[in-house]
Amino acid sequence: MALSWMSRMLKELSRPVSRSGRRQSHRPRPARLQVEALEDRQLLTVSFFGGNLLPQVQAQALFLGNEFSTAPANSEPAALDAFLKDITGGPYMQALTRAGYNVGVGSAVAGAIDRTSLTAGSTISDAFIRSRLQADVNSGLLQAPNANTLYVVYVEPDVAVNLGAGQGTTQQGILGYHTAFLGANGAPIRYAVVVSPGGAAGNSVLPEATSAMDQQTAVTSHELAEAVTDPDVNSNVNNGRLGWVDLQRGQEIGDITENNPNAFVRLDGHLVQEVADQNDQLLQVNPAATVTQPSDPGFETPNVAAAGFQVDPTGSPWTFAGAAGLASNGGPVTSGNPNAPQGTQVAWMQNGGTVSQAVNFAAGSYTISFEAAQRGNFPSHSTIQVKIDGQTVGTITPTGTSYALYSTGPFTVTAGSHTIQFVGVGVGGSTALFDAVSIAAG
Ligand SMILES: [Zn+2]
Repeated sequence: MALSWMSRMLKELSRPVSRSGRRQSHRPRPARLQVEALEDRQLLTVSFFGGNLLPQVQAQALFLGNEFSTAPANSEPAALDAFLKDITGGPYMQALTRAGYNVGVGSAVAGAIDRTSLTAGSTISDAFIRSRLQADVNSGLLQAPNANTLYVVYVEPDVAVNLGAGQGTTQQGILGYHTAFLGANGAPIRYAVVVSPGGAAGNSVLPEATSAMDQQTAVTSHELAEAVTDPDVNSNVNNGRLGWVDLQRGQEIGDITENNPNAFVRLDGHLVQEVADQNDQLLQVNPAATVTQPSDPGFETPNVAAAGFQVDPTGSPWTFAGAAGLASNGGPVTSGNPNAPQGTQVAWMQNGGTVSQAVNFAAGSYTISFEAAQRGNFPSHSTIQVKIDGQTVGTITPTGTSYALYSTGPFTVTAGSHTIQFVGVGVGGSTALFDAVSIAAG
């Protein structure tokens, strides 16, 4: 039952599901029975149907047409290669992992130019593209495919593509598509096709794009996300078994958000399209927050005399107050401890002493870690409170006189400057030593 139901759905999905376009003129209309079957699972709207995935995509561009060898289009291969490397290797793919699609960061190798001569204003067929892919694999122009390979075919400017079987052309709202076929030796060849906007062929244009490159990168992102989560759609590979799709909509994860203007964002300067999470919501691409570290995390400034110490020194990015300061190795404060974990100096605090610094954060969640120890040459059992803007985010009591790494729990901050403060808690001359402060996202 499930199988025949899926194969009927596959037929209905075969047109709109794999294309990047602006007009969905062929939305499937599931029969009533199929809709009722779907009502049983209302929690998730994008579901997995057991097909293959490309868990760590290995992308390679094929620049189709000899125009890519001459100006002005000869600047595009390097730019698109750089983009493919960037998008396959970072936050865009990490977002797919975060969404639970069981795919993640991959890689890209340098693309190849297929110098076939194409006529400006002409329309080539998907069958022709397949024949060039096969020929270029056979000749070694393209790397041999493996289970993670995705070829991204960029068609030279002024040339349109007819998808065949009445599926339409790139002049009719389709900006790109992806699918697969069984290659000559039975190995699957998965590929995406991306055309150049406008031109003599009158290709469709993505309104959010401000340049041809914008459109090509945005459409590539859409097809890449779909190809890794549903590589065999509309193909004879693995009987075209679906991966992740929303059958109620008859759409893959890029199609669901393609008409949402908020889906088009810049990632490392490239226009990309954010796709859908399993609940059909925009899956935001969060570039790994660039974490600003505190200045002088190892307490090396100012330079304390050898085997010495200072109370509340100035001239440090840290502000010392109360019973706090710096100590160098082998001095009155540190002679009972190992050398500083970072550099040759550590910070020290007794009861009520504070060490603080304002640090710029991007909005998000962070932890602060540092090396700490109890002072070894004086009975010490001190606690270090870690505060952000006066709020305690960690309370750490070093377990011994050897330095060990301690960390706060995660805390959340808004974007901007926030003050990190270490506060000493202890009785008498009890002293805590610490060093190597670092901030991590997460
Ligand atoms: Zn699509």
